[in-house]
Amino acid sequence: MSFKDLGVNSALIKALNLAGIDKPFPIQKATLPDAIAGKDILGRGQTGSGKTLAFGLALISRLAGKTAAPMRPLALILSPTRELAMQISDVIAPLSRSVNLNSQVVAGGLSYSKQIQALKRGVPIVVATPGRLIDLIQKKHIKLDDILITVLDEADQMADMGFLPDVKRILDLTKPDGQRMLFSATLDKDVDSLVKQYLR
Ligand code: AMP
Repeated sequence: MSFKDLGVNSALIKALNLAGIDKPFPIQKATLPDAIAGKDILGRGQTGSGKTLAFGLALISRLAGKTAAPMRPLALILSPTRELAMQISDVIAPLSRSVNLNSQVVAGGLSYSKQIQALKRGVPIVVATPGRLIDLIQKKHIKLDDILITVLDEADQMADMGFLPDVKRILDLTKPDGQRMLFSATLDKDVDSLVKQYLR
């Protein structure tokens, strides 16, 4: 089974091939067709499984050709740490550019002004940590009304770090009928409550 069989955008397949990626990993085979069709996804997978491309390729395939209004991104990827947000961004950004989509990291410990400027220009994909995102929501630099796709990456780690109330506040600001993808190494009680409340 190839990325083409799974429904991935052909410009993206080219960019993947240039990076030496030509055969989907199991988590990608299992999730990409449903994710590209807009269905919610619950994925159990650790770092190394290929989960970043599983949600990244679906998200970028779905957003190709769309534009974001100022301060109103179309997709949000939530990560527990700045380091992970930057790693996700390193994977997503070059692939997004291959279909003319920009992305921006919104995380603590990084310049406010660069993040605010990018949001003002209108950026379709935001990779964020919950704390800085809420900060920028409160300061009215970002609105989540146009979010079509929300990804929660390493949801178990977000729960362990006490971020679930923030994550729920954020999810409550997105459209209830938007697509949600949750990836986690474990699906214990706290993550389970998120799944029950927010995934269809
Ligand atoms: P992740 O679990 O998303 O952190 O990915 C782990 C590593 O696997 C990263 O270095 C990816 O670039 C690589 N990777 C993901 N999917 C594939 C694939 N289908 N073929 C080859 N390498 C991949």
